[in-house]
Amino acid sequence: GQSRKPLMAGNWKMNLNHVEAVGLVQKLTWTLDDKRHDPEKSEVVVLPPFTDLRTVQTLVEGDRLTLGYGAQDVSAHDNGAYTGEISVEMLAKLNCSYVAVGHSERRQYHAEDDALVNAKTAKALSGGITPIVCVGEGLDVRQAGQQVPYTLSQVDGALAGLTAEQVAALVIAYEPVWAIGTGEVATPEDAQEVCSAIRSRLSEVHGADVADKVRILYGGSVKSNNVASIMAQPDVDGCLVGGASLQVEEFAAIARFY
Ligand code: PEP
Repeated sequence: GQSRKPLMAGNWKMNLNHVEAVGLVQKLTWTLDDKRHDPEKSEVVVLPPFTDLRTVQTLVEGDRLTLGYGAQDVSAHDNGAYTGEISVEMLAKLNCSYVAVGHSERRQYHAEDDALVNAKTAKALSGGITPIVCVGEGLDVRQAGQQVPYTLSQVDGALAGLTAEQVAALVIAYEPVWAIGTGEVATPEDAQEVCSAIRSRLSEVHGADVADKVRILYGGSVKSNNVASIMAQPDVDGCLVGGASLQVEEFAAIARFY
């Protein structure tokens, strides 16, 4: 992904108390600074729980190092009687740049299907927030060798009805479910196979110029000791990092992979 700036996004999931969240953001910016991180070489983003976003906004705005941030989910609705939901407008008011959509844990535990992921993706885009659209097969699909058609069908579903301009503005994260939180990282070749298939599909549907702009991340047990080989793949433009994003040194080393 030479023309695309690498994106390293840390998905905290439902972890850390507020004081720990503050400490992690502060230590992360110090550590990136200490490691002479070059923001031109990778964009670093954290996805904290909703309840930490206002504080992260304050911390980030006061710091000279650019740390991006966003949410882990967003409602498909604009506003109204949707108890417990958070709207894209609320996230925009917090200056969020990104939002994860359709993470496998949302799909698995909250019954999110492609149609809902599509609605959330469109809503995020219309509110000016970059969706990180998560796709990826489970172990049964991988064992049956169907990872490419399965994942492409999720991509088709998530991006249905979007304009080429909208697609050009989003991020896709390929996260094989069997690699998430398991310590079992996909091989660089496995990651490249599906990420390149996704880019080809984008090219078929929206043209090569659009496909060329979209950053495609890999996610699933990324650590500082495996990030370089994954990032060396031509169609992998960054990583979505779960567990390792809670450890400052690890996540800073992942961000500083170059
Ligand atoms: C994730 O939650 O998106 C993820 C990739 O988790 P982990 O890095 O812990 O496998």
